[in-house]
Amino acid sequence: MYDVVVIGGNISGATAAIHAAEKGVSVALVEKNKEPLSPAHCGEGIDDVTAKWLNLEKMNCTCNKIKNIIVNISSSKEYTINLKKHRLVIFDRNCFEKSLLDKTDKLGVKFISGNGLKDFKPPHEIILDNNMRINGRIIIDASGIGCQIGRRIGINTKLKREDIGVCIQSRVQSSFDSDTVRTWFHKPYAPFGYAWIFPINESSANIGIGIPGGQKKDLHILLKNFIDDMTYGSYEITNTFRACVPSAMPLSNLVKDNVMIVGDAARLANPTSGSGIISSILSGGLAGKIAADCINGKTVSLELFQYLMRRKILMLKKNYMKKTKLNSETKFIKGYKRFFKILYFIHRLAPNILETRIEKIIDKDISLMEKYI
Ligand SMILES: Cc1cc2nc3c(=O)[nH]c(=O)nc-3n(C[C@H](O)[C@H](O)[C@H](O)COP(=O)(O)OP(=O)(O)OC[C@H]3O[C@@H](n4cnc5c(N)ncnc54)[C@H](O)[C@@H]3O)c2cc1C
Repeated sequence: MYDVVVIGGNISGATAAIHAAEKGVSVALVEKNKEPLSPAHCGEGIDDVTAKWLNLEKMNCTCNKIKNIIVNISSSKEYTINLKKHRLVIFDRNCFEKSLLDKTDKLGVKFISGNGLKDFKPPHEIILDNNMRINGRIIIDASGIGCQIGRRIGINTKLKREDIGVCIQSRVQSSFDSDTVRTWFHKPYAPFGYAWIFPINESSANIGIGIPGGQKKDLHILLKNFIDDMTYGSYEITNTFRACVPSAMPLSNLVKDNVMIVGDAARLANPTSGSGIISSILSGGLAGKIAADCINGKTVSLELFQYLMRRKILMLKKNYMKKTKLNSETKFIKGYKRFFKILYFIHRLAPNILETRIEKIIDKDISLMEKYI
């Protein structure tokens, strides 16, 4: 019997395993793939406060620091935001995930890969695809949008079609401004969603589209049109993948009996932007620490996790409510136009205000995990 079994060996799961193992408990980490997906199924964008906290550069993971963000609401309206104090960072997430798994290995975590969870017999027994059985006192569900444990213990994990961000992304070789991220909201490329160019360097970029599910659209055609227009038809594609991110209300219960749910499994990605890396690291890390403390008798209940995550959950719920209000074409365009207009003018008048405000929000998230020792 392991003290903690984590299902899902990606960003939230590996972080949970590391923080539990650092507190001396026995941990098994179960991942259905043999190794992290390369390239990662992600735009790979984060803020520089998080990048610094994660020590990405010391890990030798490439990081491209972005100075400008161009937002297009239509072909006639674009806002350019020049960052003054901070940078957006496009990083090699696959390299980061490998570093996390190296760390789990050094900490003695049992990594079971190439075999996924097939069934769960509460409260302890995990049955894998190869029928191997392992037991855990505490189970952490970090299995992404499928929420594999959650749905087997009666938590309502159903997502409305429009609450699933359906994405497609290509790694594109062409000529790019490596200092500038470009996003394009709504039509013609990403109806009720957005399209992005996240440059890795001057000759390579992640170009993708994310739209709400339930629309009868051919994602490949939408992406092709976007890439054609952004590169003037001069490009090569290295790879393309499709993936989904929850753009839903966070789960009301992140804890049930001996199970904790983290990352995308808990629907902790931001419903308006689809960004979920920081939430995955925060929730995974906290869950790992609290699980270990429960085993070691230092904390009486896993419910502490729910309590510490309450501010984050409230913020995500508010964002979800905002998203659901933009449910018609007019409201969508008007809503985002107003939002970026205000953002743009505040930033022009007093660049420090906006960037410092965002920095404070991120610092608060990070300190939540740092303070819980
Ligand atoms: C196209 C795209 C672009 C994105 N871009 C960004 C971005 O730029 N910035 C940002 O902050 N966020 C971004 N996100 C969101 C971000 O990638 C997710 O929020 C984050 O990956 C969630 O991490 P996770 O570990 O919780 O889940 P996942 O990354 O989904 O990992 C879940 C893991 O569980 C494993 N698993 C699943 N089922 C089983 C099973 N039965 N048994 C064992 N293992 C299992 C999977 O193989 C996977 O490794 C993007 C998402 C998409 C789809």
